Amino acid sequence: MHIADNQRVLMPKTLNDGLNILRRRSKIRISAGGTILSLIDPGIQEYTELLSLHSIDELRRVFWSERSVDIGAMVTLEKLLDLDEKVIPRGLRQAAGSIADPQIRSLATLGGNIFAGNSYLGLLGFLALHDARFELRRYNGTRWIGANRFFDDEGRPTIAPGEILTRVRIPLGRWNIQKVQRLEIGSDIREGEFMFCAIAGVRSNSIEDLRIGISVPGLGLIQERQLDAQVVGRGLPLSLKDIDYYRSEFTQGLGLPEKLRVPFVLDRIGNLAAAYLLSLGHESRG
Ligand SMILES: Cc1cc2nc3c(=O)[nH]c(=O)nc-3n(C[C@H](O)[C@H](O)[C@H](O)COP(=O)(O)OP(=O)(O)OC[C@H]3O[C@@H](n4cnc5c(N)ncnc54)[C@H](O)[C@@H]3O)c2cc1C
Repeated sequence: MHIADNQRVLMPKTLNDGLNILRRRSKIRISAGGTILSLIDPGIQEYTELLSLHSIDELRRVFWSERSVDIGAMVTLEKLLDLDEKVIPRGLRQAAGSIADPQIRSLATLGGNIFAGNSYLGLLGFLALHDARFELRRYNGTRWIGANRFFDDEGRPTIAPGEILTRVRIPLGRWNIQKVQRLEIGSDIREGEFMFCAIAGVRSNSIEDLRIGISVPGLGLIQERQLDAQVVGRGLPLSLKDIDYYRSEFTQGLGLPEKLRVPFVLDRIGNLAAAYLLSLGHESRG
C-alpha cells in the first residue's frame, strides 16, 4: 500500500494487540489487503494512522467440521479458491473466482470484501443467501451477526468502534447443489452487471429447500421467496411446465430497477433460473 509521509502503519502480531490498539486509538483505520484502500478509496489520505491486520496469523485460519466452516477474515480470495471442495461451498468459490484477477485476489481478503458491501459484485450476496454469520471482536467481548443484517438500510456496515471482523461461519451440508454466475449485460446499461446465486437442498429426488437470488450492485440481493417456497417439496425432475412457470414469475416479480427491466436482461436471468432448476434433476441422480 502507498503510504504518505504523514502516515504511520501499526502492524500487531496478535489479535489481542490489534484490539488494544483499536481501543486506544479511535481514529485509526483498519487495513486488510489494502486493495480498496490503496487503489480505490481516495479518503485513505485523511488517516494519519493505519492498523494493518497483515501479520495476525489467527485471522488467516480455517476451521472445518461436518456442520460448518469458519474462515478467518484475512484469508485471501485466491486462498478461498485453493481450499478443498468439501471445506468451502461451491457457490462461494464460484463467487470468489469471478472477482477481479489473480493479482488482486491474492491481496484482497474475505473481510475486506465483505466491507465492500453491495457497491461491488462480491461475496456478500452469496453469504447472505447461505445464512453465513460474522464474528466481531472487541477488546472486551465478542458478538455474532447474520450476513443479511450486517448492513443497515443506508448500506452502512453495523460495526461498532473498536471492533474487528474476525471470522465468517458458513453452515455446511444443507445446500448440496449450488450455482453462482456473474453476468455482464452489456456496456450500454450503466452498472450492467449481476450475480446469479442459487442454492438448493436436494435429497431422495425431492427439493427440501431452495433459494434463488440476483445480486445487483447498489441494491444487494433480490429474491422471490414465495416462489421458491412453491417449489420446495416437489419431486425431481421438475416438469418443463413447472420450470417455465418459475422462469416467467421470477423475472416478472423481481424488483429490478426500471432501466434494467429490458427483455434481454430478463431473458438472461430467466434462462439461468430455468437451467438451474433443470440441473437439479440431473445432479440429484449423479
Ligand atoms: C481492479 C479491481 C477490481 C475489483 N473487482 C471487484 C469485484 O469484482 N467485486 C468485489 O467485490 N470487489 C472488487 N474489488 C474491490 C476489492 O478488491 C475487494 O472487494 C477486496 O476483497 C477488498 O479486500 P481488501 O482486503 O483489499 O480490503 P481493504 O482495502 O484492506 O479494506 C476495505 C475496507 O474494509 C475494512 N476492513 C477490512 N478488513 C476488515 C476487518 N477484518 N475488520 C474490520 N474492517 C475491515 C477497511 O477498514 C476498509 O474500510 C476490486 C478492486 C480492484 C482494485
